[in-house]
Amino acid sequence: MGGLLSGLALVVALSGWLLAPSSARAKLLAEEIELKVVLDARAPEMVETLERWVELNTGTWNREGLERFAKLFSASLSELGFAVTIEPGQEIGLPDRAASRSGPLVVARRPASPDAPEAPRFLLVGHCDTVFEPDSPFQEFRISPEDAGQALGPGVADMKGGLVVMLFALRALAETGDLDAAAWTVLLNADEEVGSPASRERIEAEARRANFGFVFEPARPNGAMIRSRRGIGQFRLQVVGVAAHAGNDHARGRSAIRELAEKVLRIEAMTDYTRGVTLNVGTIQAGTKRNIVPDHAEAWVDVRYDDAERGEEIRKQLEQLAAEVFVDGTQTRLWGALHRPPKPASEDTLHLLQQYEDVARELGFATPASLHAGGGTDGSLMSAVGLPTLDSIGVRGGKAHTEGEFVVLGSLPERAAIAAILLRRLSGGPLASVPAADP
Ligand SMILES: [Zn+2]
Repeated sequence: MGGLLSGLALVVALSGWLLAPSSARAKLLAEEIELKVVLDARAPEMVETLERWVELNTGTWNREGLERFAKLFSASLSELGFAVTIEPGQEIGLPDRAASRSGPLVVARRPASPDAPEAPRFLLVGHCDTVFEPDSPFQEFRISPEDAGQALGPGVADMKGGLVVMLFALRALAETGDLDAAAWTVLLNADEEVGSPASRERIEAEARRANFGFVFEPARPNGAMIRSRRGIGQFRLQVVGVAAHAGNDHARGRSAIRELAEKVLRIEAMTDYTRGVTLNVGTIQAGTKRNIVPDHAEAWVDVRYDDAERGEEIRKQLEQLAAEVFVDGTQTRLWGALHRPPKPASEDTLHLLQQYEDVARELGFATPASLHAGGGTDGSLMSAVGLPTLDSIGVRGGKAHTEGEFVVLGSLPERAAIAAILLRRLSGGPLASVPAADP
């Protein structure tokens, strides 16, 4: 038997397919339909896997959870013939997290068959961390009380659902022998939700060696893909003033709050919607007591921008503003990073997106118009070093980073089938038929 299904099952699947509109089925090969049918049959197993993974907490700062997850995920890839290394986490240089280490980085490789010297090199990227730490009330996987076709849970969409899609697509391709037609690197990082400070260099280095990049972040609930993304920066201003009694000694005080307030207004005024630039002062912490002139004040600023030059301009403006003094005797320190470059809709990326959407359409799935998104991902890093990168090929879902985060359960087999078929097409198909593994 050359495939995953018995002859009869395949005949049934194919005859069902003949009922689909002829425009849709025109291009699908029997092997591709087989992948779809097999993945559909594994939908319950995909949901079970997702439930287990979601209920293992992997907040960015929960190193124990991240290490356990890295082992689980690595074991699944080893079974498919990947050589896996788990690299220990690194010091993360975030100013409000001194001496914190990231979780481990999983690097898994599977070479192409020696018979395929021209095989393409694929880089598949995912992150296992979530924004929900062990002290969050949002820990459980559960079917949505409003819609039985959806499940809620921390990371169901962003992106443990995407990791399930990746793993099951790879499994199906391993069973058909299609994995041998490409060289694969899977990178699983654990610091994506804080901007990938520890894994960035590694992601960029792997991206330079690959021909195509794939990131398993979620698509929109209706299936809309992300065509391009804005760049993101994060900055912190820290003002030091001079404390003084507000009643007896007010004139001697140097208010850090007043200094910061002057700066906040100027930062907010840098927002320019017409040029695709927004600056948001998201948090402020300052002062100790009502009757003390405050000697410290601190603000975090989120920056979004559409082209790399504008990002650098904003960085310079913020540096100048930090150096300016409005209240004599205060000092301001600036920390910051443009941690996500913009991901423009390059021709290569649009071509990949087109191919993805073609497969989706041929399988009969809706393909709403793709979007320009405000949020960046590791795909932005890959794209910035020149790798054609298709982002948002994980599940359909939404409300990421909130306690309403959900996944459309039907999208697990759907998206795994689209990904598997696309990867098969890009690799040029199987080298030889390989006997199916016993289930
Ligand atoms: Zn994510």
